Amino acid sequence: MDPVTHSLLGATLAYARCGRQLGRTAALVGGLTALSPDADVFIRSAADPLIAIVHHRGFTHSLLFAPVGAAIVAALWLFRPTWRDRSRWLALWRCGLLAYFSHCLLDAATSYGTQLFWPLTNHRFGWDWISVIDPFVTVTLLVGLVFALIRPHRRPALIAASIALGYIALGAVQHARGVAALRDIAASRGHVLERHEVMPTLANNIIWRTLYVHDGQIWSDRLRLGWFSSTTVREGWSLPSIRLEDLTAQEQARNQRRSFERFAWFSDHWVARSPVDASILADMRYSLSTEAFDPIWGIRFTPPSDPTEIVWLNRTRDRKIDPGELWTEIIGRDPRFRPVDSEPHTADSSPNRGSFVHIAQQPGPAHVAGVDPLDPEPGIRNQRRRVAIEMTSTRQPLPDRGEPPLQESHVALRREPVLDEQQPARRLQDAPHVGQRQFRIGNRTERPGQHDGVKAGGIQRHPLRRCLRDGDWQQSAGRCVAGHRSEPGRGLQPDDFGDRGTVQGQIFP
Ligand SMILES: [Zn+2]
Repeated sequence: MDPVTHSLLGATLAYARCGRQLGRTAALVGGLTALSPDADVFIRSAADPLIAIVHHRGFTHSLLFAPVGAAIVAALWLFRPTWRDRSRWLALWRCGLLAYFSHCLLDAATSYGTQLFWPLTNHRFGWDWISVIDPFVTVTLLVGLVFALIRPHRRPALIAASIALGYIALGAVQHARGVAALRDIAASRGHVLERHEVMPTLANNIIWRTLYVHDGQIWSDRLRLGWFSSTTVREGWSLPSIRLEDLTAQEQARNQRRSFERFAWFSDHWVARSPVDASILADMRYSLSTEAFDPIWGIRFTPPSDPTEIVWLNRTRDRKIDPGELWTEIIGRDPRFRPVDSEPHTADSSPNRGSFVHIAQQPGPAHVAGVDPLDPEPGIRNQRRRVAIEMTSTRQPLPDRGEPPLQESHVALRREPVLDEQQPARRLQDAPHVGQRQFRIGNRTERPGQHDGVKAGGIQRHPLRRCLRDGDWQQSAGRCVAGHRSEPGRGLQPDDFGDRGTVQGQIFP
């Protein structure tokens, strides 16, 4: 939680509880003590960047350490002779202790993870009831405290603290609703929640992000939990969950200080590779983008010559939520949300069918990591989301965009690729940009056929994966698979298209 809210909550609670006895000093000691646990941000080491994140919200945030922490702050008052009276100082300490507890518990109510019972356990408590920044709580406490101190009377402080705590309790109710909805969503996909997390998004308790693991894959969606309306979901994406054994041999060799294990513990084991840069092992709980997984922080193993084992990548400063988009979601005007139901979806009734294409339909070596071999029979494995690419021709600005490069479905799925409910089924060959390919085939009438040894879908996709560089797709088809193996999750780059189109957005599996 941000330091301002911590300080305000500590001061408000302290003044409401001990204001009569200690006067405004109660608010002062409360505000100051409630700031102090975050002094742990100064614990850091140049040689081991993980020291800082491992210790933040560590022992200073333990309820068991709180009496010591509160005593350290209250000791400042001993410089004034009037506070050297034992019973007076103890009253001050108790007042600060209340504020200290409030900091620990408020942090535990967010998603980040707080070691509430260090040293008994290093479990990181994160109840997911409130976002790390929520102006409603901050402003309520500020108004209540200002009124209480001006009058001066404890009642405004009491009212403000009650409203703020009630709001957090509402977050707990919303969280429970979110978990119930997530079970339905997973059931509709035929999935089992092996592990799950439902987190509020910034500054509200209506839009929530969900994560769950099913069969080694982390799935992420967005929920809208209207206070007075039924729950809706905006479907997201999924990525393979990364465990220690999934690291490359080089990464494993480099992992001498158990950096991966410590990072996985910090991330509550929600670790995935960044879709944009596979060398980044990222915390999937936080994403810069609502459309795709764009990690806010993660680690990358360095080359063996480097003195530090990993680099810590932090893009917190890049975090900019689009207030317009979030507001549209909050008020329920975002058309991408649909009602939650637990009926299993067949592929044909899924609203996003076809906009997610299987990346590995090109028959490739079965052992390629991260790529499923072609299954000649249509089945559930062919309908797993692998990659979604939306692209538009520069000549066709959104929303009248061209078709996404859908897979040639007949081999694997035996049905037409379809973008969404609004768009009628369309064969890939009719996509306008088929005629804009750079290799050999100049227009639709010259679209590739079986005599080219490739399906139309194949040749359309390959430029996206940079496999037609050499102009000979027949020879490069094998390299294409290899390229995918060496660059798992690599997305489209602007120069993949040259002047033929613009990448408008990407959803990664
Ligand atoms: Zn804290």
